[in-house]
Amino acid sequence: MISSKRLQFVVQKHDASHLHYDLRLEMGGVMVSWAVPKGLSYDPKVKRLAVRVDDHTMKYASFEGVIPKGSYGAGKVLIWDRGTYMVEHRVGKIGNDKVAKGMLAKGSIRFTLEGTKLKGAWHLLRLKESKNWMLIKLPSPDNRVPDLDERSVVSGKLIEDIN
Ligand code: MN
Repeated sequence: MISSKRLQFVVQKHDASHLHYDLRLEMGGVMVSWAVPKGLSYDPKVKRLAVRVDDHTMKYASFEGVIPKGSYGAGKVLIWDRGTYMVEHRVGKIGNDKVAKGMLAKGSIRFTLEGTKLKGAWHLLRLKESKNWMLIKLPSPDNRVPDLDERSVVSGKLIEDIN
């Protein structure tokens, strides 16, 4: 039995100047964040762009609502998925958030999500000296693709119903 603190993740759907998804992983008491224009894919052949953005507070991980006009990120936000994640430092060895931060610094984070919608392992890989990362699904034995509906896992609302 592996014991370690469960780290939080959230994926927020964000209808700002461009509709996108924000992936946030808890590390060192903040939510380290990437804007993922097309969201996460379950196809290991698909590489999704993930642009590193400012860290957000832990409190923001539970935010669903409207960011007012004139503020950074103005627009509607819904909690598309949330749950816990793990990093493996060696096969079978679960890392704590120091390990996760080490992976962040190295620009290569392999992580496993245990969310309501998202279950499985992905790889975030930084492109040289940039804010741009690639997000790729790691193959799973069954390659099962669950139903990824667009509703909030908290309120059941669609993005247009957020107010
Ligand atoms: Mn955003």
